[in-house]
Amino acid sequence: MRIALIAHDNRKQAMIKFVADHKSAFEGHELFATGTTGKLLTEHTGLSIHCFLSGPLGGDQQIGSRVASGEMDMVIFLRDPLTSMPHEPDVSALLRLCDVRDIPVATNLGSARMFADDLMRLRNFQDPSGRI
Ligand code: PGA
Repeated sequence: MRIALIAHDNRKQAMIKFVADHKSAFEGHELFATGTTGKLLTEHTGLSIHCFLSGPLGGDQQIGSRVASGEMDMVIFLRDPLTSMPHEPDVSALLRLCDVRDIPVATNLGSARMFADDLMRLRNFQDPSGRI
């Protein structure tokens, strides 16, 4: 699966811990991220991640473009619900496109954990050896 990972600044530590805790769920998938999130995740988890531009510089829109063209299968976007962002329109546009294309999108750790559990179930179902 093609999976996009995005975290606002106040949620980046939570994203790093989440991906590290669920590393085996993400291994073998095509991973994408906005610039800073991707850089931090690569450093802390060792996963191979394609990094787009930083979110405020257009990264959310780049991921939105992939969603719109049917080239993204899942989005995990840990948003900061308590801080207003200059690129809020880009964030809204990305979430809207996910709804347009019926792409699963998790915006908090509760739903993100369910996605990770589902990725593990999918892996075990497709190949009990753990390969995708
Ligand atoms: P970043 O972008 O990963 O480059 O910080 C995330 C965002 O704020 O949309």
